[in-house]
Amino acid sequence: MLSFDTIVAPATPPGEGGIGIIRISGPDAVAFLATVFRGKVNASKMQSHRLYHGHLLNRKSERVDEVLAVVMRAPRSYTGEDVVEVHCHGGTQITRNVLDLFLDAGARMAGPGEFTQRAFLNGRLDLSQAEAVIDVIKARSERAGRVALSQLEGHLSRKIYRFSDRLKESLALIEAHIDFPDDEVGVLDLPALLDPVRELSQDMQTLANSFDVGRVLRDGINVLILGRPNVGKSSLMNAMLGESRAIVTSVAGTTRDTLEEHLVLAGFPVRLIDAAGVRETDDPVESEGVRRATEKALAADLILLVVDGTCPLTDEDFIALDLCQPAKTLVVVNKSDQAQDCNLDNLALFTHRVAVSAKHNLGLVDLSHAIVERLGCDATLSGSEGVVITERRHRDALTSAITSLQGLLVSVKTLAPLECLAMELREALSALGQITGETTPDEILDQIFTRFCIGK
Ligand code: GDP
Repeated sequence: MLSFDTIVAPATPPGEGGIGIIRISGPDAVAFLATVFRGKVNASKMQSHRLYHGHLLNRKSERVDEVLAVVMRAPRSYTGEDVVEVHCHGGTQITRNVLDLFLDAGARMAGPGEFTQRAFLNGRLDLSQAEAVIDVIKARSERAGRVALSQLEGHLSRKIYRFSDRLKESLALIEAHIDFPDDEVGVLDLPALLDPVRELSQDMQTLANSFDVGRVLRDGINVLILGRPNVGKSSLMNAMLGESRAIVTSVAGTTRDTLEEHLVLAGFPVRLIDAAGVRETDDPVESEGVRRATEKALAADLILLVVDGTCPLTDEDFIALDLCQPAKTLVVVNKSDQAQDCNLDNLALFTHRVAVSAKHNLGLVDLSHAIVERLGCDATLSGSEGVVITERRHRDALTSAITSLQGLLVSVKTLAPLECLAMELREALSALGQITGETTPDEILDQIFTRFCIGK
């Protein structure tokens, strides 16, 4: 284990709550507790992983708080070092006072993510697991939480280690032929080398592709509701949210600015954006809205193009339609509760359609299924055996490993020396090592851990 100083930080968020937890980690954690804690059992005698009741005293022997304290001895702790957690009363001042006691005793205030960084440096977690810690904390839907937890439990790492093992087998095969002449080890069996490399490259590509879903799970999908005034965009947003936030009115053009709301659809976090009514207008406020809608249409992952099913499409509908790329558009034919009279043949390019009544909450389940299906998320999730990558960094590392393997296949075709093939394999291995942290440069490590909050 590496040796560090002793750090301290609040582990609970600032503000008032039932309890506040102060966490201390490092070689002097227990000694520091001993200097401030008074209870039936002295801190140095506490059994690991048991809570003890007592009081914290300052240098003048005044009581600072009544607390529960737990000692988690190395290596069975989050950081792998001796860790102490003190559960004090949850209040801004009281947690500050308790924190000060430990700073006074000699602990240093921890930096962001420093506890998790130590867990990584002490080998308690590999890098992809450490990164998952922050995803677990920030997960915005149950499904996102499950994927993050699976990464924290090491499912992604195990998959990467299996890839590395397969690469190492191929490397051993080549190295045997570099080190020993053919008359000793026989001629290099090319299919035995190339078939596994091709297969591995495919498997890596499947995992790299799961980033499409991983990104959606972590950051959410941007869904833009677009359409001319009065087709029922605000009503649809309200219906999807199940609460009245946007102003619903029958006067055209009142939704002047864009509104954003967050919701969870079939387990995926969604940012729902209601764009301004799209139509040609001299009204400066509204044309600004139209300009923004155009921008948002470009940035959206999915557009819900809302049309009014009760009347033929108008020129204004076509203005909205022009902003939509068919590949990422779902046409929502609203007002299904009334007689339909819409010339949908004009929407031939837009093959994905759902009929709803926003006002009467009809067809909303179909709509949410259609959204998830349109994004292809469910299919990718079931194809990836539940292991999904959520970090662009991981996707890039996989892509770089795949590029090296492709380089190897080319090198074989051009009869390049075996050293070149070995080099490509080593590069692929090193790229995979960036995911688990074995070959990650220090500055990237620093960047990763500073994204964490203090106390984690
Ligand atoms: P927006 O301008 O596109 O945001 O449209 P609104 O949501 O403000 O709705 C315009 C009008 O259409 C309002 O009078 C709504 O009550 C009405 N409306 C919206 N959805 C439906 C629906 O499903 N059926 C019927 N009959 N009327 C609807």
